[in-house]
Amino acid sequence: MTTPESLPPFSGDDAKCPKCSNEGAFTEHKKAGVPRSDGYGGMRLPERLERRCGRCDFTWDEALNPPA
Ligand SMILES: [Zn+2]
Repeated sequence: MTTPESLPPFSGDDAKCPKCSNEGAFTEHKKAGVPRSDGYGGMRLPERLERRCGRCDFTWDEALNPPA
């Protein structure tokens, strides 16, 4: 179960992709229960900010900013 508390903090506009080290990622707000763009998670995910790498398309989740 992913909780809001378990999400990493929002890393800003210069977020570094954990896969390809590109600096810069898109941000998309996702409501609780909305699946991630890559199909992972679904119902169990809290409200969050989805980050997507501008280079390799890797997708990960971060906490709301400011935190809820
Ligand atoms: Zn990347």
